[in-house]
Amino acid sequence: MLCFDVDGETTALSEDLEFAKRRTLMSQCEYGPRIGVPRLLGLLKHLNVPATFFVPGYIAENHPRMVEAILDGGHEIGLHGYMHEKLAGLSEAEEEGILLHSLEILTRLTGVQPVGFRAPWFEINPWTPALLKKHDLRYCASEMGDDVPYVHENGLLEIPGQWMLEDWEQFAFNADPAWGFVPENCEKVFDLWWREFAAMHDYGCCFVLTLHPWLSGRPSRVQLLEELICAMRNKGKVWFARGSEIAGYCYSHPEARQNIDFDANPNREPVSA
Ligand SMILES: [Zn+2]
Repeated sequence: MLCFDVDGETTALSEDLEFAKRRTLMSQCEYGPRIGVPRLLGLLKHLNVPATFFVPGYIAENHPRMVEAILDGGHEIGLHGYMHEKLAGLSEAEEEGILLHSLEILTRLTGVQPVGFRAPWFEINPWTPALLKKHDLRYCASEMGDDVPYVHENGLLEIPGQWMLEDWEQFAFNADPAWGFVPENCEKVFDLWWREFAAMHDYGCCFVLTLHPWLSGRPSRVQLLEELICAMRNKGKVWFARGSEIAGYCYSHPEARQNIDFDANPNREPVSA
């Protein structure tokens, strides 16, 4: 599952609306929707692979033609907050308000109701799965509890990611506000992601790569992604799928999921002190 979190301007504005006056900072954020997304759409078209774009409501409202281009490419658009709000500090009512607002915007701009949700910063609250199910979302892609999709207690599907398969940790850098670390060499990043992919392939896992167009839309990183996708495809027995397709498969094949939980094993020897 290739995910593009199109945070764009909300990367800065979610920290402080006053950043709107900081032209260089904002231009770096705008690079994502304006330059990164079109370039990445070109690559996906060239390689004929589908992806899932998680787009904050604010970004969709301000870049409606980008939304159209993503849909024209045959890709899925999922929810990602309105202003990329961190959910951890919000009440359940506040979180539901943002969910409904972003759902309304994306439904209006895409003509279909989104079925997937990726929490900004990946962090959800204990009540988030219930809110998502209440408003007819089919899957959440925010937790990190397994290498294959699993179900929450209320039956909502989770497609888990992990920080290792994220580009922020590899490529993000901004002087002030201080974001990220040292931008990594693409060869190192290819090696990191390829080794994880190859091992996940052996174990039969769901490889969820999360990229931000303002970072991974830069030229050398688009070529890194091209090399990675081609290598994955050449390995064989790989399904490139949108989140909605993965959810559809998991809901219709519950037998594909086998839980191995040592703590739940009634025959397990009790641990002695
Ligand atoms: Zn994000």
